[in-house]
Amino acid sequence: MNILSKNYINGQWIDWHGDTIDVHEAGTGEVIARVPSAGREEMEQAIAAADRAFDTWSESSLEQRIKVLEQLHAGLKERGGEIAETICREVGMPIKLATGIQAGLPATITKTYLKMLPDFPFTEQSGNSEVQYAPVGVVGCITPWNYPLHQVILKIVPAIAAGCTVVLKPSEIAPQSAYILAEILDGTDLPKGVFNLVCGPGHTAGDTLIKHPDVRMVSFTGSTRTGHLIAHAAADDFKRIALEMGGKSASVILPDADLGAAVKGTINNCLLNSGQTCTALTRMLVPADRHDEACELAAAAVAKMTPGNPLEETTRLGPLASAQQRDRVVDYIKLGIEEGATLVAGGPEAPEGCEKGYFVRATVFGNVKPDSRIAQEEIFGPVLSIIPYSDEKEAIRIANGTQYGLSGAVWSADPDKAKKIASKLRTGQVFVNGGAFNPLAPFGGFGHSGIGREFGKWGLEEFLEVRSLQL
Ligand code: NAD
Repeated sequence: MNILSKNYINGQWIDWHGDTIDVHEAGTGEVIARVPSAGREEMEQAIAAADRAFDTWSESSLEQRIKVLEQLHAGLKERGGEIAETICREVGMPIKLATGIQAGLPATITKTYLKMLPDFPFTEQSGNSEVQYAPVGVVGCITPWNYPLHQVILKIVPAIAAGCTVVLKPSEIAPQSAYILAEILDGTDLPKGVFNLVCGPGHTAGDTLIKHPDVRMVSFTGSTRTGHLIAHAAADDFKRIALEMGGKSASVILPDADLGAAVKGTINNCLLNSGQTCTALTRMLVPADRHDEACELAAAAVAKMTPGNPLEETTRLGPLASAQQRDRVVDYIKLGIEEGATLVAGGPEAPEGCEKGYFVRATVFGNVKPDSRIAQEEIFGPVLSIIPYSDEKEAIRIANGTQYGLSGAVWSADPDKAKKIASKLRTGQVFVNGGAFNPLAPFGGFGHSGIGREFGKWGLEEFLEVRSLQL
């Protein structure tokens, strides 16, 4: 059992003697760690520390910031194995994938900023003006559990690079990697108070962070429900917000596409991290006359995705992160059956041999109506809806027919045609014929999926105010 009864405030580990939150192992349901259920008082201390540190850190040199981020990068590499296993146990992502994604991506993202920073124009000329990009101030970072370290790194690296100071409230469901991060940062030359970590529930610790007048920006990743609360709270004193929220992304398979490759690509994306991925392609749009063929291909693909112990190297589908999430996903599978969709694979029963832990069977529905709840609401589990369409126009209308707009895919034998359709999707990113994930591309949502962008220069700009000096 990992007892983490402390918060990291003003460069010091502060012991916690109050209530704690249990952290569960996704594959067994056992309690593997305890973290503080800290509240308003600790959060106010952390905000005060970040506020005091801002005067100095906002004036720090770029060389100083780069040095700290290089030290962070080295620490992330050094502790990669530990990070992967910690997140594999908490979230349920199979160890092989967790090593590449949950532990590998944070180091990769840090590296992209290290490469970009020396050439980033923190000042530029416009006519007779010098335009300066200044740090926003104290930033509150609030993050979810599905990619717990990656989502933290996407915020704190550009925030620190911009000269901001940070208070992090990680997810209470998967908080341990944030502690590893705090330990790494504690070993760098980062001045005290620039980074602070307080672990606690959303309605107390998180609520204080989003409403405190000294916090000038809230950078949030999580559910649309919490995003609403943050947007309302921010309106009171015009805080800047960056919101990365849910999705219901469509994979549009055009009539001329290689159906086998498109179905395989869509399933692999949909089931990544057992569907606990905001960008998951959870709606597969297929020409009506190829619907049954697509269902057969999908059933064959998920048959290979038997759930198993995420710590085993050979496992491809792990459990969900919590009992609550498992129950929610099972309820959606039952709802799909009630709504009259065809159950092509999977179902609500627990998978055989996985009695302990939070496992759900990879499930595929066919003949899903575009306006049904399983096609409209984010399920956040291994559930794919196959939706038939009659023509291109209808496919685009269905793809754009949810409140979300985070990701998407288009598949066609004609790359120009695929690009043309991709450009009509009201969504933040589109994978064209299986195009590769790019850590330099802007990431974020249209509509209820978000406000603002992360990754690359777009991620850095979120943390900068613009000042112009007329000379
Ligand atoms: P959540 O909104 O319940 O929790 C996210 C964070 O917000 C947690 O740290 C939580 O403690 C905090 N929080 C909850 N209530 C709060 C309040 N009243 N005030 C302040 N903070 C509060 O989301 P979750 O269940 O942890 O994560 C899953 C969701 O995140 C899914 O909807 C998913 O789509 C979304 N997500 C989006 C992205 C993206 O980049 N767009 C990435 C990953 C996850």
